[in-house]
Amino acid sequence: MIKKIVIVGGVAGGASAAARLRRHSEEDQIIMFERGPHVSFSNCCLPYHLSGVVESAENLVLMCPQKFLKMYNIDARVNNEVVSIDRDQKEIKVKNVLTGEEYAESYDKLILSPGAKPIVPPIPGIENVNVFSVRNVVDIDKLNSFVKSMHSKNVSVIGGGFIGVEVAENLKEAGFNVSLIEAMPQIMRPFDYDMVQILHKELHDHGVNLIVGDKVSAFENNSVILESGKKIEADAVVMAIGVTPETDLAVNAGLELGTTGAIKTDQNYRTNDENIYAVGDAIQVYHALTQSYTKLALAGPAQKQARGVADHINGKSVLNKGFIGSSVIKVFDYNGASTGLNEGLIKAHNMDIKYDTVKIIPGDKVGLMPEAENVHFKLIYEVPSGRVLGAQAIGKGNVDKRIDVIATAIKLGATTDDLRDLELCYAPPFGTAKDVTNYAGYVASNLLHGSFEQVHAADVRGLVERGAYIIDVREEVEYEQGHVNGAVNIPLSMLRDRIEEIPADKTLYLYCRSGARSYNAVLALQHLGFKNLYNISGGFMGISFYEYFNDQTTDRNKIVKDYNFE
Ligand code: FAD
Repeated sequence: MIKKIVIVGGVAGGASAAARLRRHSEEDQIIMFERGPHVSFSNCCLPYHLSGVVESAENLVLMCPQKFLKMYNIDARVNNEVVSIDRDQKEIKVKNVLTGEEYAESYDKLILSPGAKPIVPPIPGIENVNVFSVRNVVDIDKLNSFVKSMHSKNVSVIGGGFIGVEVAENLKEAGFNVSLIEAMPQIMRPFDYDMVQILHKELHDHGVNLIVGDKVSAFENNSVILESGKKIEADAVVMAIGVTPETDLAVNAGLELGTTGAIKTDQNYRTNDENIYAVGDAIQVYHALTQSYTKLALAGPAQKQARGVADHINGKSVLNKGFIGSSVIKVFDYNGASTGLNEGLIKAHNMDIKYDTVKIIPGDKVGLMPEAENVHFKLIYEVPSGRVLGAQAIGKGNVDKRIDVIATAIKLGATTDDLRDLELCYAPPFGTAKDVTNYAGYVASNLLHGSFEQVHAADVRGLVERGAYIIDVREEVEYEQGHVNGAVNIPLSMLRDRIEEIPADKTLYLYCRSGARSYNAVLALQHLGFKNLYNISGGFMGISFYEYFNDQTTDRNKIVKDYNFE
């Protein structure tokens, strides 16, 4: 039987559903409604128009209605907003936003992919500043034209999530004075506080005025006033504090919302009306690790859900195992990727789970290769099972590959022993014979088997403040270039000769550059009968990155004599 399938929203979820539906059937009638002037544009590339990486806004539009019709026989109607759904009649009402004309369209199946809209709270004085948000091509064009016509170069971006950070980076690249203001103590919640310090440093070092832990309280004439009393000049303000699902259409039609306030669906993305499906940013999804419902505003899940819906409409159920949330971002010279649980998420969900973390900084390629870079890698795993729960990687080189491996491992229920055994491709320009993910597996296995104990860079300030005995096992020349205040330098190469100097009655904390040499030192001392030994994971590099941004932006005392980031 020929079906008439109507789709609301013509971008990530909507366009993917339409294309997949056509692959299922040549006969079905497929109509896709989009209230904006463009279908199928690259939301994810929008910020890159500000810096000129994507030169023309037109290039952001990947498909036009004419192409949809010619290539796929899909009737894509732009500037057409679906304003209501009559579920009894199986009919929608559509408004042509250019002419105001309204008309009805029937459906056999209806797919909602209306996305999520930027949150713009009613902050006092908001009418005194030029406020923008970034959701579509029209928005970015408007923002780009405005900032480029301003006399001053002062722009404030409110909100340090993906969109805020990407907009801030691209505006800075375009030569603007950018302030990035985040109310929480950190930007980019997919990363834990310890890891995100690398990105804080990168923004700071590139001249972005990054302000964390301070909230916008009001706007005055072309300026932003923060709760701390700070006043930031801004001739344009970009609001990027988050998005909220577009649910009006669904609510007015009596479709159920879930606990998160997004549209509730079953595992085949069907709403409480068996003829209406919903996908993308507008719905809530099941998080396979927190085992709760969540909102996940990412393009990959939206497109996969859309494909699942098209399959289900055509009689094919798809096993839906839920989502784990994998994402990646570029911040100037650094790339950051994450997947699964992080410590922040575990705490926020009050999860009753015992876990530990591995933090290592291996190379992403063999060090002799000209493009070799360090990867700051954090693995989170369950104790004692070793089940892999999540990971974060930040570095100038190839981090997404490592997180993709972990994302795959999590989906397949892997343990840290499985990571140890992974056979990944290797040649010097691509990686190391033992990959970053293998190393993480080794360290986790060692920790699980009790071979050694560790503390992290975040613990070091406390250790210094209480006068703990810290040993720097790097060579003297490295120590001279910067070290933790009060640390005693006994290089690994001299450890056995200078063993008498090491107090056996004290708890000892050892570090090197990245944690590998000090791990060897810890094992050597353990074999020589020493007890109460801790390796400082991530070493002096980890400590330097962890401490730097707060040292630069607050008046606290440094705990290191010069940093070392290499
Ligand atoms: P959308 O793609 O937003 O499409 C919804 C469309 O529905 C909109 O165009 C809207 O106009 C239309 N619509 C709404 N209501 C109606 C109605 N009643 N009638 C007709 N049309 C309607 N995700 C990533 O994974 N990686 C990234 O790097 C990334 N970068 C991003 C950068 C930016 C600046 C933005 C804004 C988003 C980014 N995302 C990224 C998120 C990703 O784009 C979204 O998760 C994804 O587009 C969601 O798909 P969707 O179909 O639910 O919504």
